[in-house]
Amino acid sequence: MKDLLAWSKSWINEKKKNYIGGEWVTGNQDKIYENENPATNEILSRWNMASFEDVNHSIYEANAAFKSRSWIDLPMRKRASLLRSIGSLIRQHENEFAILESLANGKTYKEALTGDLPDCSDIFDYYAGWIDKVYGESVPVEKGFINFTRKEPLGVCALIVPWNFPLLMACWKLAPALSMGNSIIIKPSEHTPFSLIRLFQLIDENLDLPKGLINLVLGDGFVGEYLSSHSNVHKVSFTGSTKVGKNIISRSCRSSLKSLSLELGGKSPNIIFADCPDLKEAINRSFDVMFSHKGEKCSEPTRFYLEESIYDKVLQGLVSKANNIICGDPLSSQSDQGPQCHKLHFDKIIEYIDSGIKEGAKLECGGFFDDKANNGKGYYVRPTIFSNVNSSMRICQEEIFGPVLCISKFKTENEALALANNSMYGLAAGVWTSDISRAHRMAQEIDAGMVFINRYGCYDFSSPFGGFKESGWGKDMAIHSIDSYTKTKSVWIQI
Ligand code: NAD
Repeated sequence: MKDLLAWSKSWINEKKKNYIGGEWVTGNQDKIYENENPATNEILSRWNMASFEDVNHSIYEANAAFKSRSWIDLPMRKRASLLRSIGSLIRQHENEFAILESLANGKTYKEALTGDLPDCSDIFDYYAGWIDKVYGESVPVEKGFINFTRKEPLGVCALIVPWNFPLLMACWKLAPALSMGNSIIIKPSEHTPFSLIRLFQLIDENLDLPKGLINLVLGDGFVGEYLSSHSNVHKVSFTGSTKVGKNIISRSCRSSLKSLSLELGGKSPNIIFADCPDLKEAINRSFDVMFSHKGEKCSEPTRFYLEESIYDKVLQGLVSKANNIICGDPLSSQSDQGPQCHKLHFDKIIEYIDSGIKEGAKLECGGFFDDKANNGKGYYVRPTIFSNVNSSMRICQEEIFGPVLCISKFKTENEALALANNSMYGLAAGVWTSDISRAHRMAQEIDAGMVFINRYGCYDFSSPFGGFKESGWGKDMAIHSIDSYTKTKSVWIQI
């Protein structure tokens, strides 16, 4: 681990480049980006952002690769085998990737290694398996004709990913997009580009993919905006904030009509009824999904609604767990929680905590910069719990994306439902109850893309992931990602 850490730090420090048309190309923008280690405030790396010419270059190469058919015309099983090889490369280097994620994002090494990495590799196996299973339809039409459908790739897909699961969100997009024969240009978040650069380096060194099939451009929102507005990009798949998602919708259609998939923000409710089958399990599981990855997860349950009779007990259980969390060096196995990803984000969280106090919520624990976590360095916020929260408060309506939990009580099922649905977001929701009828009523009535009954945060490649309302458009995973990276052609033959 010590050697790998030294190697990772020195590798991060090397000049970082774009990967365009199979070559490593230094960004042509004069603007230099600096990455800070959020645990120590040390500068990890400095690199030049891609210029608009660099982005044009990547779009040109990706289109040329797509038109050459060098990828789609490979024998299906060869394409599948190359995808599986990407998964294997990740698996072989998982410790290294976990260190890179931890250094740039601040999540603990163990969270990255056991949470993010297995899915990063397995998803390539999963979508490799789909390649020879995407059937068209044989359509019943009038006598004298045959009508059938074909699924075809879209062309060049721009994949724009956030900083909270840097490699995982990238793999969620790369695997299905490539499996269906598209060429891609991916832009990691400027805060956490390293794991993806390293993956591209490993692919470049070990696999023989067609030139221009995969391209990587480095930069901030301006680079993302330019990429997603370009007329020669045929699809934008974006995961990030609702604000940027809306910007992409309006800009992406100015020069051409593109396919869009948007996985956006959340403010998910978690309703615990007094008849919950196992209150201890409800407290433990709800706490863990809320505060793991330092609360920087789109689907985490940030609004807890507790039935009046169990309110005090659950609140007490949560506060006691929060007080036991060890914030510290994310690379240490002793630490439960690392620092928030970057300074602007840390400042935003602290501002929300202040607003909650000013608006009259009761601060039960946390709520401050943890200067004991790492000798006064880093962006540490202790797990923070507010009680007596009402729906009009900013902390209850806006996505904080940090370790800040809002708790309120309810008396009736209808009240709980109304509180849960009182949000512009609709990503996920949790319900804990032993009453099967109530569980079904809630599952039907809650306006969210994913509802978890008696276990928050279930997830599988075979089940759709994605939200309603301002949490996004479309679904990831399973056949939904296949649909999202293909178009359906209807073919008629007169016989
Ligand atoms: P962000 O929207 O600030 O940035 C996401 C990506 O978009 C980054 O690569 C960024 O450089 C780029 N970008 C910024 N401005 C852009 C623009 N105008 N045009 C095109 N690209 C632009 O989000 P973030 O702060 O990196 O991530 C946190 C957000 O992501 C949260 O809102 C969280 O809920 C959301 N998220 C959602 C899901 C989901 O599946 N629904 C998963 C993870 C994160």
